[in-house]
Amino acid sequence: MSDKIYDVIIIGAGTAGMTAAIYARRASKTALMIEAKTYGGQIINTPAIDNYPAEPGISGYDFAVKIFEQAKALGADIVYEKAVGIEDGTIKKVKTEKGEYEGKAVIIACGSENRKLGVEYEDMLIGRGVSYCATCDGMFFRNKKVAVVGGGNTALEDALYLAGVAETVYLIHRRDKFRGDDLTASLLSKRGNVKFVLNSRVTKLIADKRLTAVEVTDNKGNTTELEVSGLFVAVGRVPENQPFSDLIELDEAGYAVSGENCRTKTPGVFVAGDNRTKEVRQLVTAASDGAAAATEAVKYINAREDI
Ligand code: NAP
Repeated sequence: MSDKIYDVIIIGAGTAGMTAAIYARRASKTALMIEAKTYGGQIINTPAIDNYPAEPGISGYDFAVKIFEQAKALGADIVYEKAVGIEDGTIKKVKTEKGEYEGKAVIIACGSENRKLGVEYEDMLIGRGVSYCATCDGMFFRNKKVAVVGGGNTALEDALYLAGVAETVYLIHRRDKFRGDDLTASLLSKRGNVKFVLNSRVTKLIADKRLTAVEVTDNKGNTTELEVSGLFVAVGRVPENQPFSDLIELDEAGYAVSGENCRTKTPGVFVAGDNRTKEVRQLVTAASDGAAAATEAVKYINAREDI
């Protein structure tokens, strides 16, 4: 709780949120980040980032600490509370599980969560063979056998990416037809090291400290074991937009509908990073959204004479 009225309240302290805080502070606006877990967001568990300019190989943790320290040094505040809603008004109120915070503009940047498979030991094996990001972690599986599970574009693109890295890629999908683009599916079918495992689900993870195999059960109940050291789970993401759905328009997958300016249907409420509709969900685009959303928020505040 705080009696202060912040210029910009940012829900989420991942790459998008922390970048927004940096931009808000550099425009001399007060900024509060409200973070439900730890700062850093999705990238925090990635061992090495190789696709962010100027920082090849940096760990997700070090990357997060660097942005956080930059935001803090500029004077951004942070509280660790879960935001549960926004009340619109001339001054907006962000409700948390513990209280509420007032701000002139709000940026929603709390990201999305990976949809889990829901099989036993899945959480325990994250970073020990189980991954939710092929472009982040694929290189650790060079010349090894891996599996991708899912049938959407992410799974197809992950499989195609991994086909260029791994020895063998099993693509496991619960239906006989992929939901993702036919073109990508057709490219995959021409890759000699990609094997489709259709009408099947991953029913068990087998591990000896690290993942060693997955048990797959087909729609007729037959089980087989695939020896793999990596399992890339690509069964969709769940954006954390529901608490704010009265103020923002959501698409059918739950993403907040917005363009590059990060505006929403509610003036003074912006959305950045993985919360919003976009083609490329990567660190670099999260940072870019943070900059755009904060710049728009500053413009919004400066244009209003009543706040
Ligand atoms: P998605 O399209 O929602 O696909 C998720 C896939 O996971 C579906 O095939 C679904 O199966 C399967 N699935 C869901 N829960 C499962 C479970 N518990 N166990 C096993 N399988 C499960 O998600 P996405 O692939 O991450 O894509 C999200 C959005 O981004 C889509 O609109 C996609 O087109 C877009 N995208 C676009 C591009 C591109 O244009 N280059 C790249 C990536 C993503 P069912 O098919 O049976 O439902």
